[in-house]
Amino acid sequence: MQYFKGKSVYKGVTMGPVLVYKKHGEQVKRKSVEDPEAEIVRLRKALDTSKLQLQALYEKAVTEVGEASAAIFDVHKMMLEDEDYLEAAINMIRTESVNAEYAVTMTGNNFSQMFSAMADDYMKARAADVLDVSLRLARNLCGDKEQGMQIQQPSVIVADDLSPSETVQMDKEKILAFVTVHGSTNSHTAILARMMNIPALVGTDLDISALSDGMIAVVDGFEGAMILEPDDATCENVRRRIREEEEKVALLQELKGKDTVTADGRKINVYANIGNVGDIGYVLENDAEGIGLFRSEFLYLGREDAPSEEEQFEAYKQAARMMAGKKVIIRTLDIGADKQVDYLGLSQEENPALGFRAIRICLKQPDIFKTQLRALLRAAFYGNISIMYPMVISTGEVQRIRAVVEDVVQELEEQGIQYRVPEQGIMIETPAAALISDRLAPMVDFFSIGTNDLTQYTLAIDRQNAKLDDFYNPHHEAIMRMIQMVVENGHKHGKWVGICGELGADTELTQQFVRMGVDELSVAPSMVLKIRKIIREM
Ligand code: PEP
Ligand code: MG
Repeated sequence: MQYFKGKSVYKGVTMGPVLVYKKHGEQVKRKSVEDPEAEIVRLRKALDTSKLQLQALYEKAVTEVGEASAAIFDVHKMMLEDEDYLEAAINMIRTESVNAEYAVTMTGNNFSQMFSAMADDYMKARAADVLDVSLRLARNLCGDKEQGMQIQQPSVIVADDLSPSETVQMDKEKILAFVTVHGSTNSHTAILARMMNIPALVGTDLDISALSDGMIAVVDGFEGAMILEPDDATCENVRRRIREEEEKVALLQELKGKDTVTADGRKINVYANIGNVGDIGYVLENDAEGIGLFRSEFLYLGREDAPSEEEQFEAYKQAARMMAGKKVIIRTLDIGADKQVDYLGLSQEENPALGFRAIRICLKQPDIFKTQLRALLRAAFYGNISIMYPMVISTGEVQRIRAVVEDVVQELEEQGIQYRVPEQGIMIETPAAALISDRLAPMVDFFSIGTNDLTQYTLAIDRQNAKLDDFYNPHHEAIMRMIQMVVENGHKHGKWVGICGELGADTELTQQFVRMGVDELSVAPSMVLKIRKIIREM
């Protein structure tokens, strides 16, 4: 029996035969060429083929694991379109008169090393993506076929590292767990494991050349460990734990379709948080009663210009249609702070969390705001949409928001376009809003408490600063008092009050929130049934 430690990215436990993943990448050889320009033509052709392959992989991944996870193939396509990368490879072909496969492999290695050296963990994790893209190009230049891994039986996949295109080609039904030597908790394998609800370890301290297929392994995501060739007592213990986990999952499944009511008949709405329409599959799968926070800014990120009214209208309408009459609360653009886009021309700030963000941008740049509001009001005609405004600090802001909505209504009226003015609420995520919630309540239809920012601003702790993790305490009495105050002020004016920050999914507090009078909890889709269970047992 051997024991290996790794970083767990999903808590679960499993046992099964090991399948060691071996890379197909052949050694690319350096060759001198007579005609570098002909090599560049070959390179461009291979680029086109690679882009087509990535598009096909993207489409396969969207249906299997959803849009958010599939997005990595878009990133790969973007890497292929990166001018610095292409220029570096072309320069090498021209100046050194070498074959294109050698030039892309070397360029890929250099870029990958550059990413590895970056301080940001997310960027570091992209080093593997650059290598993956270069390998694809080199393979296409050599005319090699891409071979997916054949998995005959449910297995624990062990690899040095796994690239997105390697994992997406695997038969998901037959993967019990992933264990990799490299890779970070931000790697695609980690994201995929979380989405598939299977245990996974990255950064595992093991020598895969010492493993062979068929060896039995236990992967324990609770302990962050892999046990190779476990003894009988360990196997027995693991089988019992697997059974217990399965029973928990099965019990939760029984709660699907059931109401979230306490034993004494109080109904709490358990909604889900999403970033884009592609996440709605998870909302439906986990039987959430609505969407309590659609972070619309994700429509604006990672692109060169703002999404048009039409594009937004289609996305919001589709969300409402997919939720078939259940409530869909869409938060207006919350850009700024950690979420930046170039095209809005926002300048660098010394204190971005205290800076030009969210509703402040919308009120200062009403064109952007109006485009989104038009899309929202038009989509509301087709479904149960509500609108929520982020980062509000004053009654004056609510009045200004109302005035812009009025303008938009006027425009739509004049243009004879169908619309509906839906329920409109605000996020309570600043201490100011919490403290004047008695004055804000009569002006809005509901409150949704954003505990992530409320904690940041109340405790004066930057939520992005990992050094302060020990100090960031959302259970702080000040936060609890504010939540209680907001609930009471909302209720005094007949308005419902929910929580959509991460604290809403904190199962240690669920019963306390219900006792405080919270009407709605909006949580990650995977937490919906767990919260429902606690509430039904109260
Ligand atoms: C919050 O601040 O609690 C919240 C839900 O908004 P975000 O995390 O998107 O800032
Ligand atoms: Mg917030």
